[in-house]
Amino acid sequence: MIYSYPDYYNKFHCIADKCPDTCCSSWQIVVDEDSLNYYENFEGEYRDTLHKNIDWAEGTFKHNRKGKCAFLRDDLLCDMYQHMGKESLCTTCREYPRHTEEFENVREISLSLSCPEVARMLMNNKDIVTWKIKSDEEEEIFEEFDYFLFTNLEDIREEMIHILQNRDFRICDRFSKVLQIGASAQRHFDEGELISWLDVEEQDKVVVEKEYELLKMQFSFLSEELEILYEDWNKVLVESEVFLFGDDEQTFFQNRTEFEIWWEKSTLPPMEIVLEQIVVYFLSIYLLGAVYDENIIGKVEACVGHGIELYMLLLARWLKNEKHLTKEELVELVYRYSREIEHSDENLEQVEVLKWFQR
Ligand code: SF4
Repeated sequence: MIYSYPDYYNKFHCIADKCPDTCCSSWQIVVDEDSLNYYENFEGEYRDTLHKNIDWAEGTFKHNRKGKCAFLRDDLLCDMYQHMGKESLCTTCREYPRHTEEFENVREISLSLSCPEVARMLMNNKDIVTWKIKSDEEEEIFEEFDYFLFTNLEDIREEMIHILQNRDFRICDRFSKVLQIGASAQRHFDEGELISWLDVEEQDKVVVEKEYELLKMQFSFLSEELEILYEDWNKVLVESEVFLFGDDEQTFFQNRTEFEIWWEKSTLPPMEIVLEQIVVYFLSIYLLGAVYDENIIGKVEACVGHGIELYMLLLARWLKNEKHLTKEELVELVYRYSREIEHSDENLEQVEVLKWFQR
């Protein structure tokens, strides 16, 4: 078995009570069966509190009156952890924000951007992200796993990440190239041919005729095409839309130019690196999933789309703040966006079938 990890993986430490938006606040935490059995048979002093705070019918932790996990104390520490120790935590609580993608004889482990501390780490990381590999003797066989397609996809992903991290080119040119490779790869696959990043056709280039209309349409996906998980996210989307598109097209482009000039002079990490890290993050996690559904281009477009959506959300916040943006706000928008997308299976599927670009 091969295990891969991004190079910043071991630097992560949960900041617990210092976390600005703890993961156990309003989430519905589904408890795995082993942990439920353990809790059911637990005989210690904490048994009554433990049993009272579990929804046994649903297999989840109950919420308190504030809508937060019943085990989350006012000091933002976990009451179960304090009384029963780390080993008592269910799989979700023990593993989050670690995330694993499973393929035959491969486990790709990442850290979810939906955790504020992970978002902070990645947004402060100016280095090119690399991956570390480990392996052991374990072997497995997945039924109907297309190993040939999988290795093809691995090659394509490696090249796409290489392009995305090539800082000699502007980020929009890197995005275009990756989108073109994705479309060519899909076409070759559909025609029953070997897919390769070397066979890229002119006809697969993205054509943007009306940029303003395209950006408007892409931004509308967030409120019209996707499930909204948190009520306050809806507020962010509604007000962002007004700040972005409330005036005419000329004002939009003027704002965008000013925003980029302002950002360059600010103390924020370079915008191109921020966008690179975001798209590399999504592509590294989701592209290989095409081995299961053969939707290569849907995944590539969604990953680039996430970079564009975040850019737009940051521009909107900058306008809302009367042309200012802090690093904390950058991190906040990144982790909240990730929560909305990555914590909803429905949204993860939907973003890959939306028509993000024209060719
Ligand atoms: S969101 Fe991340 S940093 Fe915050 S409590 Fe959860 S794991 Fe820790």
